[in-house]
Amino acid sequence: MDKSKRAAVLAGNWKMNKTPEEAKEILNGLLPALKGADCTVVVCVPYTDLGVAVELCRGSNIHVGAQNVHFKESGAYTGEISPLMLVEAGVEYVIIGHSERRQYFGETDETVNLRAKAALEHGLKPIICVGELLEERENGTTEQVVTRQVKAALADFTAEDMANTIIAYEPVWAIGTGKTATSEQAGEVCGLIRRTVAGLFDAKVADALTIQYGGSMNPKNCDELLAQPDVDGGLIGGAALKVDDFTALVNSASK
Ligand code: PEP
Repeated sequence: MDKSKRAAVLAGNWKMNKTPEEAKEILNGLLPALKGADCTVVVCVPYTDLGVAVELCRGSNIHVGAQNVHFKESGAYTGEISPLMLVEAGVEYVIIGHSERRQYFGETDETVNLRAKAALEHGLKPIICVGELLEERENGTTEQVVTRQVKAALADFTAEDMANTIIAYEPVWAIGTGKTATSEQAGEVCGLIRRTVAGLFDAKVADALTIQYGGSMNPKNCDELLAQPDVDGGLIGGAALKVDDFTALVNSASK
């Protein structure tokens, strides 16, 4: 698989961490450290940090993302944020269908698809998360689960939509647990995702798609994971909150 056909994207998922003041501190550390990065760098911060992040990252090589988006432009959806609001705030990327959203907030394959389509319609780039639970890995249904999630998430997508989409393979059992998928496991499922996309569209679309691995990626295991032919970057939780660790991951993805 020829990686030069697609962009390496390293995205940090800050989850529900960091106040705007704390965000400033991290970003002021990352901005000089990542100046020479040879991959796309994204920080997906809490909504309340978006203003600070967009302001500080303006004109730099760090792109700003959100961690969710609603599928309507406005209305009676208390607590939600619309794609229009994100675009006006200067956001470029948005994580959709993270396993924590699926597990704690009732996110389904169908709402993942609605959110992703709404993001694309407004020019936001969705980072769509898929991945199996521990019990699904253990009972041998990983392939079935991930294929179902990918097909459902991409329902009604065009090839042009795919050019602006990233898929993140995040085995749920590896998120925030310190347990990483082996590079073979990560490579295998990312390969499966690419083949699924080739089946839905064609080889050209599949070859151009950035597929990230996420799940306890850190400076020690990143080289091996990122060397897998179908792994084009990472979605990073814990290590994204530490300037030195995130810098090391970006450097690894830049090689
Ligand atoms: C994540 O939340 O997307 C993630 C991969 O978390 P962590 O790196 O902490 O496992």
